Amino acid sequence: MPFQFVVLLSSLVLAAVFAVGGKYLYSQESSEFELELSASRTTLFNVYALQREALLQHMQVLAYSIATNVDSVNLMSAAVDDMRNSAMRGDNTARVQRLHDMFKTQLAQQWDTLTTQYNVLHMQYLLPDGTTFLRMDAPTNFGDVPLSIRPMLADVIKNHQVRSGFEIGRTYAGTRGIAPIMRTDADGQKNCIGIVEVGIRLDKQLDRLSRFFGSGYAVLLNSSSVTGVMQEKYTPTEKIGDRFLLSSSGPEAAEWLKAGKIIIDEAAPREEAQDFLLNWTDRVSKKEHQYQVITFPLHDYRSRIRPEYPPPGTMLLWRDVTEQVQQLHNARVRSIGTAVVVWLLAQALLLVAFYVPRKEWRAHLRRRAAIIKQLSNRNALLLKATEDGICGVDRDGNISFVNRAALMMTGFGIEELIGKNVHSVLHHHLPHGGGEYAAEYCPLMQTLSDGKARNSEEWYFRRDGSTFPVKVSATSVIENDVITGALIVFHDITEQRNRQEALLQLATTDSLTGASNRRHFFDQLEAELSRQRRHGGLASLLMTDLDFFKLVNDKYGHAAGDAVLSHFVRIVRQTVRRSDVIGRLGGEEFAILLPGDGTSGGRELAERLRRTFEENPTTIGGRTIPCTVSIGISDLRTDDMTADKPLLRADIALYSAKEAGRNCTVLFDPSSTDSTAVNQAIRQSEWKSDPATASTPPAASTLLNSVKPS
Ligand code: GH3
Ligand code: MG
Ligand code: MG
Repeated sequence: MPFQFVVLLSSLVLAAVFAVGGKYLYSQESSEFELELSASRTTLFNVYALQREALLQHMQVLAYSIATNVDSVNLMSAAVDDMRNSAMRGDNTARVQRLHDMFKTQLAQQWDTLTTQYNVLHMQYLLPDGTTFLRMDAPTNFGDVPLSIRPMLADVIKNHQVRSGFEIGRTYAGTRGIAPIMRTDADGQKNCIGIVEVGIRLDKQLDRLSRFFGSGYAVLLNSSSVTGVMQEKYTPTEKIGDRFLLSSSGPEAAEWLKAGKIIIDEAAPREEAQDFLLNWTDRVSKKEHQYQVITFPLHDYRSRIRPEYPPPGTMLLWRDVTEQVQQLHNARVRSIGTAVVVWLLAQALLLVAFYVPRKEWRAHLRRRAAIIKQLSNRNALLLKATEDGICGVDRDGNISFVNRAALMMTGFGIEELIGKNVHSVLHHHLPHGGGEYAAEYCPLMQTLSDGKARNSEEWYFRRDGSTFPVKVSATSVIENDVITGALIVFHDITEQRNRQEALLQLATTDSLTGASNRRHFFDQLEAELSRQRRHGGLASLLMTDLDFFKLVNDKYGHAAGDAVLSHFVRIVRQTVRRSDVIGRLGGEEFAILLPGDGTSGGRELAERLRRTFEENPTTIGGRTIPCTVSIGISDLRTDDMTADKPLLRADIALYSAKEAGRNCTVLFDPSSTDSTAVNQAIRQSEWKSDPATASTPPAASTLLNSVKPS
């Protein structure tokens, strides 16, 4: 899985966890706020309901106390009686006026107390049938019968019980207390002689509530409850939609209503309060405020006791919750801010947790890469700089890389080698026109098959078909226990070979004549003897000594002597075959090994040699130096265990040739008169062929001298 994807996925999971946590905190704050709103709605509604109940009680008590007041009873008695009489006579107005004056005089103080101390707005006396008799607040307005619009009044007339309740009347809508004025007549019967009604406006009660709680209020009346009930001149002036604004604690209610901000749920339960939040920009301060608006039905007397009647209006209470909303907002911002900060920290930690090890890992990889690059640069430099040819091959021996030195040595271009089988390109035949070099004998191919490292000396082919000797090391490349290829390192050993050959030449030849030196000749003679013992066949050995050579030196000088020696060897070379071996055994003594030739062939060749030398004298500085050679010939025998035996025999023959007058050839004759001495010499020679001295046997002539008859 890509690293970025893992990081992204982890970040998304982390963000999701914090989003869920943040949402939970957010909803916690919200539900706390909603609880607070619900609590304040319940409190306000309950306090309102309690106050309303207290007021209703209060209004009953007030109405009752007025109705039972002696003055009220007396005055009403007088009025009732008078009205009865006057009704019979028919001039009502003057009498009513008189009675009104009487009432006013007697009740003036009481009315004053009621209006100033009890906030009474309205008090009226009615006749027992419900006809208005006297309105204390509007004395001229009497004589009407408001029973049709006043169910509470009708109930009091019906059963003479004190009642209270909210009602919309002709002149005002308010809370009223109504009590019958009873008189005990002479017959002891209690008769209703009138009715007293006191009323106060709703806003008086609401003002108190408003002051106490710091809340606002508004009373709305449904137009259906007002129209046809209230006289036009007393109808509230503010009508918004189909509602009249009866009273309110401030102008905002009307503004809200007009702006359609007030939501009234008509279907809400009759005795429950609803609430909602309202945003409102204050006209003066231009500040936005949030209000909790609580609405509940405004019941009148009738709707309270008869559920089939709808409440005539709605109560609005509100309080400014800007601060609480702000606090909620702040709390939410704090919660979200904290969640975001913690999330960012967690995200940062997550990234650190992901990226720091990655960075270290990358740094580690970079270091490794740098080391690898350094190494590969070094390798490249090595490949380039080394004079060794380096060649990589795959498991089939096909070349995968090759360095410059290898190209230089072989003369191939890189494209001629890459992909080619190394054996078939460089190693296909044996050198010097030899046969095909089978791959199974090729050390490299063997290393590829068995994995073992090999060092060997081989011949590689150049592009032009020429060959050169190489020292090759082949090392297998093994990966996971499997041979995947091999590395060949080789270098041209032509010079080394040449040096070796020169050294060999130096170690094995005589520098003056180019003939094998004594030691090398002995080695070759021994080799021929053992070859003959193994395979049989013929071979002969010639021992030569220049005649009177001391005289040559004496006469012509040592350098001329040297020239004669060189000249002699040259003639020998021209006379013998390439496979024959010439050795200088000392001074002017040479031995010639003739493999494949028996004594007759040897003698013939010796004779030819003697003659050629005699006939071709050495010339030096315009002078001719005559010189002859004496030659002794012997065969090689399978029982010759050491080289000195045939040498001794040839030396004996040479001695015989010297004895015979020199410049002649003599074949060794075992039956000759000197055979006893010869045998003795041979025995001594065997004694001397002790391993410590065998490699440097004394000159045969020296041995012979000891047995030579004087
Ligand atoms: P003979 O016929 O009996 O062999 O007589 P000779 O004079 O050859 O006697 P001998 O073999 O005893 O003498 C060999 C001489 O060869 C002695 C020595 O001065 C000479 N000699 C040996 N080595 C060299 C050499 O390398 N160069 C030269 N110029 N002379 C050499
Ligand atoms: Mg000699
Ligand atoms: Mg000599």
